[in-house]
Amino acid sequence: MSSLAVLHASQLVTLAGPKRPRVGPELSELGVIRDGGLLIRNGKVERAGPSHEVEKTVGDAKIVNARGRVVMPGFVDAHTHLVFAGNRLEDFERRSRGETYEQIAKAGGGIWSTVEKTRAASETNLLAQAKKHANWFLRCGTTTVEAKSGYGLTVEDELKILRVIRQLKEEVPLEIVPTFLGAHAIPREVSSDEYLDVVVTKMLPRVTAEKLADFCDVFCERGYFNIDQSRKILSVAKKLGLSLRGHVDQLTNSGGATLMAEMRATTADHLEQTDEQGIAALKKTNVQPVLVPGSVYALGSSRYPRAREMIEAGLAIVLATDFNPGSSPTPSMPMVLSLACTQMTMSPAEAITASTVNAAYSLNRGDAIGSLEPGKFGNFVIFDCEDYRELAYWFGLPQTHAVYVRGECVLKNNGDT
Ligand SMILES: [Zn+2]
Repeated sequence: MSSLAVLHASQLVTLAGPKRPRVGPELSELGVIRDGGLLIRNGKVERAGPSHEVEKTVGDAKIVNARGRVVMPGFVDAHTHLVFAGNRLEDFERRSRGETYEQIAKAGGGIWSTVEKTRAASETNLLAQAKKHANWFLRCGTTTVEAKSGYGLTVEDELKILRVIRQLKEEVPLEIVPTFLGAHAIPREVSSDEYLDVVVTKMLPRVTAEKLADFCDVFCERGYFNIDQSRKILSVAKKLGLSLRGHVDQLTNSGGATLMAEMRATTADHLEQTDEQGIAALKKTNVQPVLVPGSVYALGSSRYPRAREMIEAGLAIVLATDFNPGSSPTPSMPMVLSLACTQMTMSPAEAITASTVNAAYSLNRGDAIGSLEPGKFGNFVIFDCEDYRELAYWFGLPQTHAVYVRGECVLKNNGDT
């Protein structure tokens, strides 16, 4: 039996609480234990409590001294586009000169350039790039990510990306939840209705037959997939047994939040343009909002989603990076915490709940990860700070000291896995 005891954390942030996503004032209840101790046996949390109590039961466990440091659950990033080829440096530089999205797309940039590079990349090459991204997540203190397909846009290329995600799960310590996002954009070679037909009749049956995804997502937006097309894709996905997520109301308020409520989706993501009606609709069926302020920041916008109103409406809010090469090139959840606190009037405690236990529930993993409670996996991070609020306060500074997945140290502060 392998066991590990982490003792004398300045703050052990347990997130202990009800066995469901947290809402309202619960978002601020982090279950902090000063001079906290954690005992992990066989990859799972056995005890979390004051060090002097945990110490009595450590037996022959390996001891890690966390004096002067915060220990908390690894971040759960519930919205990423982890697998893609190349980058969008040209777009970035053009945007920095003030060019518009249309000008950039005309010059050969935009999502299409990533699709072309991803289609051209072999599975081996894509996997190598994905491993580099996976290591970045660990370095930021993230131990679980959701990962979407969506840069293939043909049957074979979408399956290729999902197989890379499956292989990545085998080869890196980062835990990964796969999502099929064939409806990310409309490929240049076909009309939107033709492509919709491919997604529904060819891609979804293959994805589910090969058990390559837990969730189905869709980009519901003007110029991409409208409400009726999105409903069609999500309905078929649901019949095939997938849970639902959706990119909605990012650029325009098209009624996407209402659609996600109608479909009883697990999450509605983005929501920058969602109004009171959309928020009320989400509440009716308890859809979890996944807010991705990194993409608002990176696009130079100031239209952040209405996090405070969503919290007041009783929604179980989630924060995520939306890691992708175009609109949100960051794997850093601490950066997202900073944005949530400075731009969205969330408190550091609310932001931490939204990026750990609530995110875990949004991936149907709330029973196994997201808090440090007996029976859950020993996925935790030791941060080089004494107070959890420092994670949102200092920005642009990596504070990760060590990362553990299922009780095993997978990264120390020198960046090696
Ligand atoms: Zn996204």
